Amino acid sequence: MARAAVSGRLSWRTATLVEARAENASARTLVFDVPGWPGHLAGQHVDVRLTADDGYTAQRSYSMSAPADGARVEITVQTVADGEVSPYLVDVLAVGDAVELRGPIGGWFVWRPEQLDPVLLVAGGSGVVPLMAMIRARRKHHNRSVFRLIYSVRTPDDVYYADELRRRARDDHGLEVTFVYTRFGEDAHRISVADVNTHGWPPELEPACFVCGPTGFVETVADILVALGHDPRRVRTERFGPS
Ligand SMILES: Cc1cc2nc3c(=O)[nH]c(=O)nc-3n(C[C@H](O)[C@H](O)[C@H](O)COP(=O)(O)OP(=O)(O)OC[C@H]3O[C@@H](n4cnc5c(N)ncnc54)[C@H](O)[C@@H]3O)c2cc1C
Repeated sequence: MARAAVSGRLSWRTATLVEARAENASARTLVFDVPGWPGHLAGQHVDVRLTADDGYTAQRSYSMSAPADGARVEITVQTVADGEVSPYLVDVLAVGDAVELRGPIGGWFVWRPEQLDPVLLVAGGSGVVPLMAMIRARRKHHNRSVFRLIYSVRTPDDVYYADELRRRARDDHGLEVTFVYTRFGEDAHRISVADVNTHGWPPELEPACFVCGPTGFVETVADILVALGHDPRRVRTERFGPS
């Protein structure tokens, strides 16, 4: 309801693609120039609307992958097989093309640069997108709170922002990154209580927890966090769709 209320006040803007980067074989980061963009917080998302020649429209939500930077709005889209919108954004949209975009949307799943509590980020697949915006915002604002990211992903080849995450885990003091591979190596497995217990924060530290990914993943991780003793009010979730 809050989401509907927020988006109801927002108007569609023309967004021109100015840069595109492949993240892996099926995902692409898109950087748009959006004149008049009001800025946003890490964790928020936008609606993207496509209009066909015959007037048919389709719109989908995409989290922003980078903190506010003038008129630039950056998203990362994963192709969903047989999807209506995502294959177009990943494979067809070219630099110079325009789409419509509205936002920023969302006031709950956000991290603010003035926050100082420990942060636990848990990502499943493309769910890393808004969490990457938080990691980048932390650095941009010289925030010194300690961050841990647990990133569940099929194989190393499927990791988004792979070079940057490796570099930040080395250089951004206070940031730890752990990968859980579901289809790679002898230890391949779905995220478990042991992963969250070992690589997350103990509940006594009262971390802010952000969990994002496919619906089933998010529900599993949220249940694990609450079972480990985290206050449900400190566990914020964002569901991207079917598992
Ligand atoms: C708040 C929010 C933020 C989001 N942020 C991102 C983001 O940063 N990056 C990103 O890639 N996606 C993100 N999504 C998902 C995105 O909005 C679309 O659902 C996704 O791109 C599929 O759209 P489509 O038109 O290609 O597929 P559709 O034509 O809508 O669906 C085709 C088929 O795929 C299934 N499907 C739909 N969505 C998904 C999904 N997410 N995963 C697996 N199967 C699916 C459908 O059930 C259907 O069977 C976000 C969703 C929400 C609600």
